[in-house]
Amino acid sequence: MKITRCTTAVVEANYDYTYVRIHADNGVFGTGECFMAPGLTAALREMFPLILGRDPREVDRLGRHLWRKGSGAGAVAGYLFNAVSGIETALWDLVGKSTGVPAYQFLGGKVQDEVRIYADCHAGDNIESWAAMLTPRQPAWLQKALAGKKTREERYEPAQYRRRARQMVRAGFDALKFDIDSIVVLTGEELNRPLRDREIEKMIECVDAARQGAGPGVDLAVDCHWRFAPSEAIRISRALAPHHLLWLEDPCPPENWRDIAEIRAQGGCPILTGENLNRRHGFWDLIANRSVDLVAPDVQKCGGMLEAKRIGELAELQGIRFAPHNIASPLGTMASAHVCATLPNFVALEFHGSDVPFWNDLVTRPDAKGPLIERGRIRLTEAPGLGLELNEDAAREYSKPGETFFE
Ligand code: MG
Repeated sequence: MKITRCTTAVVEANYDYTYVRIHADNGVFGTGECFMAPGLTAALREMFPLILGRDPREVDRLGRHLWRKGSGAGAVAGYLFNAVSGIETALWDLVGKSTGVPAYQFLGGKVQDEVRIYADCHAGDNIESWAAMLTPRQPAWLQKALAGKKTREERYEPAQYRRRARQMVRAGFDALKFDIDSIVVLTGEELNRPLRDREIEKMIECVDAARQGAGPGVDLAVDCHWRFAPSEAIRISRALAPHHLLWLEDPCPPENWRDIAEIRAQGGCPILTGENLNRRHGFWDLIANRSVDLVAPDVQKCGGMLEAKRIGELAELQGIRFAPHNIASPLGTMASAHVCATLPNFVALEFHGSDVPFWNDLVTRPDAKGPLIERGRIRLTEAPGLGLELNEDAAREYSKPGETFFE
């Protein structure tokens, strides 16, 4: 079996959904998704000659080959791993579809049939679209969706958190995550100043409001996006400890595991981090020093499905749980779900697309109808590979100007 052709396509959604397609000489193709990055499709096109003519069944070998060839351009960490992750996932889809086997079977098989999904709720109400360097943009679908919505300034109030929590629980989710860093007046100096008592009080008010909206049986997590110094993160963690959060995410800059360990030891909330780390090696200090309660690799970035599985297994050795970051389309979300289903320490997988009006339209499934996520769960079936196909009509409609579409 040989790889004969590789192509890309990009959908301009709340982020760029970057797809890789790999064809083999048996007439089958597989599709994977990469986490956004500037210049990503150019990097993918540089990588394709390295795998053309190779056996797609040697997934790990090809992944490691790409790591090594990226030496100097990001072999240890960096956005080349976004590209490698999409290729690796496309290979699993291709191998699965060629053999009639679901991708989770190649990762050891399921330990659960359903994957619990948590809804990212932003800061109450936050429909947005971001380019790869996190500059805001307004594609046509967003301009239409924004008509009549509240302005950014009106959002960060407890009433919004309450309303959004109620809405997402009604949609079937029993785990929610809210941003609390955006409650603080963001000047770029947050790392260099003590938080005002009123700022922390407002965080508590918003979490209280989210709890009122969600009701007692729903798990709540909050995200700080690396915004605060460890001393301030400890204050936040202590203030929120009585709320029994599922986790406090990225409370401080991620470079130093000792800072994260200190917040964990002195705060009171379970700590989660890891969405920007690559490979097992990126997680090693956090896991070996037991400085987190949960790891959150992004399957479209960390190195791919097998690497995410390995990170989850390393974490399991230390009693650390696994709750992957995910801002992908349904295709990448499904790839993540295959990994999650194979890990006993899995808690919940992120869903970041509730505001994207065409999110569910982007895929079709051979053995299921309706939305991919139902009652806050993804159910894994016996369908081969990732168990779904990209809906090319929908993807083409929202494809990013200037990018090729599987050509
Ligand atoms: Mg986050």
